[in-house]
This record gives sequence, C-alpha cells and structure tokens, in this order.
Amino acid sequence: MKIKRISVFEMVRTFPQSYSLSRGRTWTSAENTFVAIETDAAIVGWGEIGTLGANYLPAFAKGVRAAIDELAPHLIGENPLQIDRINYLMDHVLFGHPYGKSAIDVACWDILGKATGMPLCDLLGGRFEGGLNLMADPGAGPIEEMLASVASFREQGYRRLSVKLGGDVAEDVSRMRAIMEHALPREEYYFDCNRGWTRDQALRVMRQIRDLDVYIEQPCASYEDCLAVRCRTDHPMILDEIVDSPEMVMRIIADNAADLINIKISRVGGLTKARRARDMCVTAGLPMTIQDVGGSGIVQAAIFHLAQSTPKEFRHSVYDPLTWSDALTDAPIRVQGGGAVVEVSDRPGLGQEPLPGSRGNPVAVYGGRD
Ligand SMILES: [Mg+2]
Repeated sequence: MKIKRISVFEMVRTFPQSYSLSRGRTWTSAENTFVAIETDAAIVGWGEIGTLGANYLPAFAKGVRAAIDELAPHLIGENPLQIDRINYLMDHVLFGHPYGKSAIDVACWDILGKATGMPLCDLLGGRFEGGLNLMADPGAGPIEEMLASVASFREQGYRRLSVKLGGDVAEDVSRMRAIMEHALPREEYYFDCNRGWTRDQALRVMRQIRDLDVYIEQPCASYEDCLAVRCRTDHPMILDEIVDSPEMVMRIIADNAADLINIKISRVGGLTKARRARDMCVTAGLPMTIQDVGGSGIVQAAIFHLAQSTPKEFRHSVYDPLTWSDALTDAPIRVQGGGAVVEVSDRPGLGQEPLPGSRGNPVAVYGGRD
C-alpha cells in the first residue's frame, strides 16, 4: 500500500464559553487542522490536531500547517501501514515539532485499522475491560462560577475533576478550600496551575493546603522547579505540559518526578509515541490521564482508543474534547447514561468519519490529483 495524496483542512471551533488558564490566558476559539491520507488501496485515514492559541504549549495552528508542508512531500509513495518507519522518516526530515506530526501519524493508524478491519484499541494492545472515566475541565474563573460548573459536572456523573488555578497564592488557596468544602467522598481532584506558580509560590500553597486530599498538577513552568516542589510536598504530583516526548517520560520515571502522568497525544507526536510513553508508564507503575489539547470526534476517538487499550488501574481518567467542541463526525461518543463513563466502539480504525461538509475545501493538497 502507498500514500497517494495528503489533504489538509482547517476549521475554527468556537467555544460555548471562554476558557481560561493561569496568568490571564483566555481563549474563545481555537483552530483545528484535519489531515486526510488517501492510499492507492482506496482507503482514507483521518487525523486531527487542535491547538489552544499560541501560548498554551510550544504548538500553534500555523506551525502545524508549516510542519505538514515540510513533511508531506516526503511521505507520498511511502507505505502508511509501516507506522514506526513513517515516524522515523518524519523525525529524519523535520527535527522536533512533534505536534506537527501527530495528525499524520493518527491518520496512518486509522488506515491500518481500516485495512485490517480492527478497531485501534485492538491494534494498540487490546481492549481492556470496563469504561473510561471522563474528567471534567471547567476552566478557571470566579469561584462562584467554578462551584456551579463543578456542581453541574457532578450532576452529570463526573468523578474526576480538573480544577484550574490562577497563579495567585491567596486566591488559589481559597479556591481550593471552597471547592473541597463541597467535594464528595468518591471524587478525585486535580488542582492544575498550568505552569502558573514560581517555586516559592507553589511551596507556600502546598504548606497551606496540607490537610486536603488532592493532586497537584504542573505547578511550575520548568521541570526543575516542579521536581523541587515535589521533593517538598506529600501531595501526589501530576506532570502535564512538561511531558512532550517518550524520552521525557523516561526521565520522569528515572527521577521519580511524578505520581501520575498526563499524556496528550499530539504533544508527544501522535499515537505511536503516546503508546510508547503509555507502555513505559505501565511498566513503571504510573497511572495516567489520557488526553489531547482539543479537537472534534477524530481527536476524541484517538484518546479513547489509547485509553481503552490501557490496563484499567493505569487509566485514571480520559479527557473528552467534545466538552468544548462539536463532534463533526458520524458516530460521536457522548457521555452515556449520566455516568461520565464511555467505551470505545468496535468499528475499524478510529471508528469516526468526518461528516460531509464539516471541513470545507482543503487548504493544501500534496501528491497527485485524480
Ligand atoms: Mg493540565
């Protein structure tokens, strides 16, 4: 099988409400890039990446498209079923920029699933029983709004809550206390500062919330600062933004730098590298939340398939990008039965096809036209 053509589509998704993180970063919309890889066997694979502006991660929509422009001409004529080889080739022709490679990698996995008639979770290791616990991500805001948002997610059955902090010590401590005052026994809380504290600020917060049974997530920007904070608190530590490659996961394991790891598929370069990172975490006994930055039904399917092929005790939660976006695909998986628990479908590949008309005309096409 050979890659015949690669088409790129852009789509702006407008959020139902504005979304904020620490240090005043606020977004009302984001850009998604879709990739369709057509083969000479008449199979089409889909990939997608969503970014959150240009200041959440070292990734942005124009960078995605520039990376694909660099990569795509090298991939025409290659066999999309040889996915490790495709990744090796992409790393050879473009150093770094893993986010720019993610949608291509995911599209190759979709092709492999469709060619074999197997759902991706089977190809990524096999379907582990049980549903996936969705995490709620209400975003940062005034405390009354956050309490209302957490209550609404609770009503829908969510038991894993990612609560965003702002980066101000006093405000963050009162926000954490207000939220935990209403917490129910079976709920688990990730308090996420998204790189917002300096080391001293993080340590002051940790001292003031010693009695709270919560996770602390990505307190500081640098790995060294997060590690220093971890060494001086007994709260379980989650690392997120810093986890940008399987190599970084290896380092975190070697340094004993985290108790739980967030794997965002596009941040590490796609499903191939996310699977490597996942397998290292399982080997090291580290649970994960499996996520991506955002997107529609294609991103959602990639997240859910990777999570479904992860042993139950290691998949702490999954992120559902459809909290902030429409599916735009033909079989969207929504929260079922009020339980905030989902299971991925048995359809081959990702099991999701973009709806006709959901993506407009391609902004770039590589390879021959019919
Ligand atoms: Mg996070």
